Amino acid sequence: MCVNYEELIPQFRSYLKKMTDYHSAIALLEWDARTHMPKKGIRGRSQAIATLSGEAFRMSVSDQMASFLDQLESQQGSLDQVTARLVEESKKTYERSRKIPPDRYEAFVALTSEAESVWEVARGENDFATFAPYLEKIVDMTREFVDYWGYEGHPYNTLLDQYEVGMTVSVLDDIFSGLRTETVMLLNKIEKKPLVNTGILERYYDPEKQKAFSEFILREMGYDFEAGRLDETAHPFATGIADGDVRITTHYYPNFFNAAIFGSIHEGGHALYEQGISYELIDTPLHSGTSMGIHESQSRFWENMIARSYEFWQCYYGDLQKYFPESLGDVSLDQFYAAINVVRPSLIRIEADEVTYNLHIMLRYEIEKGLIGGDLAVKDLPEIWRENMRENFGIVSPTDSDGVLQDVHWSGGMFGYFPSYALGNIYAAQFAQALERDLPDLKDRVQHGRLPEIRQWLGQNIHQYGALLKPAEILKQVTGETIDAKPLVSYLNQKFSTLYHL
Ligand code: ZN
Repeated sequence: MCVNYEELIPQFRSYLKKMTDYHSAIALLEWDARTHMPKKGIRGRSQAIATLSGEAFRMSVSDQMASFLDQLESQQGSLDQVTARLVEESKKTYERSRKIPPDRYEAFVALTSEAESVWEVARGENDFATFAPYLEKIVDMTREFVDYWGYEGHPYNTLLDQYEVGMTVSVLDDIFSGLRTETVMLLNKIEKKPLVNTGILERYYDPEKQKAFSEFILREMGYDFEAGRLDETAHPFATGIADGDVRITTHYYPNFFNAAIFGSIHEGGHALYEQGISYELIDTPLHSGTSMGIHESQSRFWENMIARSYEFWQCYYGDLQKYFPESLGDVSLDQFYAAINVVRPSLIRIEADEVTYNLHIMLRYEIEKGLIGGDLAVKDLPEIWRENMRENFGIVSPTDSDGVLQDVHWSGGMFGYFPSYALGNIYAAQFAQALERDLPDLKDRVQHGRLPEIRQWLGQNIHQYGALLKPAEILKQVTGETIDAKPLVSYLNQKFSTLYHL
């Protein structure tokens, strides 16, 4: 049979465009469900999302897809870069999905959806025993799936690969062990210093003004409100609905400053990534972040390295005081800067500071690796958790609700996801080092509010590529290096040695 490639590629692209449209509709339905949907709409909405997800899934594993992939793969050498990557990605999804028997996949979806509601009640009632049998089943099924997929080295590698292509246990073990030692050393020094007063952050901050200030800072960063919007949800998130429509949410607490402002900046960092992807990738699955870790590097970079820097507030603290004269009028820049950067071992991951955050991730990573490798049992997790907290943080959670039950991820079967958060911090520091190499007067630019110039650098070096380059490729291209925690360690040591006079 003679294949006409000039027709085949546009047909393949239009097939993918249709799948992209389904995902776009799903993203909008999900965004609406979390922002504006009336409560009683949940049943119908879940059905609509399930129908569209099912359609997109069937397209990804169809005979039509198989035929596209067969024909295009035989021409791999002569394909343009974008089409070649589309074929590679589609093939990976196709193979992965086809390896799971459909009835087992459906059983897993049903199990995790039930487990999420069981987990929510168990966390509320500090009742690990009720959740444990569900978690055991989820772990068993995940290990079953790992066998279907196959793996090299450690079975956990194939789970990591879903969120961070190419990441392995041996790389993470190495990176994390160095980072853990350095973090604990820094923490020990900080703990000998006087406590920082954070009471100023718990004064009254009018939610309307928090919103206005969040919007102001997002505009300063270069977030395009003509191509996005800011809404309020219980848990902040960013979502790319389609080209020209990347939305973010935040949460306003009247008596806590940090959540809304730093939440908005964090999600804004995710959104700038998606808003900055090249037009060349529109209507394809490559029009997205390349991995969870690289995505998180963009949000952490803006939230911590820029918006928790002294220079940033040298520029914007005066503005902030005008928004909140009653709460911040009597607070100096130095007091404010120390409060927003306080380091304090805490029980809850999502409330953790820059220094202790990665320790929370390493704890979860060790547990996941042990569960998937078959070295740990679910019933032992509460004790393992307490032991690790005692050893690394010097504190112990009185309840499992504030311990092993605190995160939603395991009830949804999302093993392999947690490391992305720490990878984001590590990549962010590596990117920041490259940025300072290219713009040696970076601090001066931040101090003068020249944030769009930073955004432009990120756009040219990272954002425009979307998922065209893999995480290790983009890291290599920008920094010339492979993954390395040293830039993060030196950033943390430098920043907190100055702050705490170590
Ligand atoms: Zn994030």
